[in-house]
Amino acid sequence: MAVEKILELIDGYRDDIIQLQKELTKRVALGPDNGGSGEHDKAKYLKEKLEGLEPDELEEIRAPDERVAQGYRPNLVAKWQGKRPHPTVWVLSHMDVVPPGDLSLWNTDPYVVSVEGDKIIGRGVEDNHHGIVSSYLPVKAMRESGSDFEQSVGLIFVADEETGSKFGLDYVLRNRGDLFHSEDLIIVPDGGNEDGTMIEVAEKTMLWIRFTVTGKQCHASTPAKGRNSLYGAARLIVDLEKLKEEFALQDELFAPPDSTFAPTKIEANVPNINTIPGKDVFYMDCRILPGYDPDGIIESAKKRAGALAKELDLSIEVEPVYKQVAANPTSPDAPVVKALARAIRRVKGVDAKAMGIGGGTVAAFFREADLPAAVWITQADTAHQPNEFCFISNIAADAKVFACVYLGEY
Ligand SMILES: [Zn+2]
Repeated sequence: MAVEKILELIDGYRDDIIQLQKELTKRVALGPDNGGSGEHDKAKYLKEKLEGLEPDELEEIRAPDERVAQGYRPNLVAKWQGKRPHPTVWVLSHMDVVPPGDLSLWNTDPYVVSVEGDKIIGRGVEDNHHGIVSSYLPVKAMRESGSDFEQSVGLIFVADEETGSKFGLDYVLRNRGDLFHSEDLIIVPDGGNEDGTMIEVAEKTMLWIRFTVTGKQCHASTPAKGRNSLYGAARLIVDLEKLKEEFALQDELFAPPDSTFAPTKIEANVPNINTIPGKDVFYMDCRILPGYDPDGIIESAKKRAGALAKELDLSIEVEPVYKQVAANPTSPDAPVVKALARAIRRVKGVDAKAMGIGGGTVAAFFREADLPAAVWITQADTAHQPNEFCFISNIAADAKVFACVYLGEY
C-alpha cells in the first residue's frame, strides 16, 4: 500500500530532519520589530526546496515593508494538485523566529543547531521549524515513491507571525483569500502538547488593562502627609481577584476551563526606599471565555477601582490597552479535526481531543475569515525559551500524521 511505503520512507529521514533544521536555523529570520532584517534568506532557501518537489503552483506573496532591504516580506504558497480538486489540505507554518534573549542562558550558539541523541537544540527548531519540516517531508516521500496525490496538498510558509502577522497570514488572506475554501482542511502546526493529544480549536478573548493609581508623594517617615499609590495598587490587585467570581462561567473545552485575570507587569515607581510613592502603574492580562463581552469586564474593573479610589482618596484610571475578541471556534466535529484525530490514532496510537486555549495563535486569522483551522503538533513547549529544543522522533511521527492526512488515509 502506498501509505505504508511513505511512512517507511519518513522513518528513514533522520539525517534530512537534522540537515533541514541546520539550514533553517542558520538563516536567522527576525522581523524588523525584533531588530532583524526579515525572512528573505530563509524564504529563498525554502523556495528552492519546494521547487525540488515540483509543485503545480508555487507563489511568493510579497507584503510591502519598507523597513527591510528587499522592500517586502515573503510568504510562500506551494500546491500539489490532487485527483480530487477539493478539499485541499493546507499546512501553514511560519518562518520568523523570536530573538534568543539573554545569551548567557544558552549552552550553545542559538543559531547553530546542536544534536544530542534525539534532541535538536537551537532558536526556532520548535517554533516553527518543527512545523515546516514535518509538513514538507511527507510531500518529499510522496515524490520519492512516485505516489499520486489523491487530494490537493498545499504548504504555506509565512512571515511575521511573531510580531502580529500584518505582513504574514493577515496579508495573505487579504490579498489571496481566494486560495482557500471553507471545506478545506487547514492545519497550523504551531501549538500542542507533549504527547500530541491536543488539537486546539478555540481561543479565549484577550484583554490587557492598564491601571494608573495616583496619590501624593511624601517622605516615608510621615506617611500620613501623602497618599500611598502602591498601597492603593496592592488593594486593587486583591480586589480584582473577585472578577473570577463575577465572571465564573466554565467551559470544559478550554484548559483552564474558566476566564483568567492575572496581574502581570508593574512599572517602576520611586527609586529609593524612604519615599512614599505617588504614582503606580500596573497591568492585568485577562483571557476571557467567548461567552463574555470584554467591555463588561472593563466596566466591572472601573467600578471596583472607583470605590477603592474614593475610600483611599486616590485617583485610579482604568484603560484597555489591547483587546482581541475571540473568533468563532472551529467545531470539534469539523472535518479537519476528525481527519487529524484519526491520523494521530493510526500513527501514534493515542486519542487526541479538541480543546480551547488562552489565545494568541495565528489560526485566529483563518477563523475570522470563516475558514475552520486546527492547531496541532507534538511539542514540549520550549518556544521562545533559551535552549529551545525539539525531538527528531516527534518531527518524524508528526510528518507521518500529515502524510496520512495528505493521502486521506486515516
Ligand atoms: Zn510559532
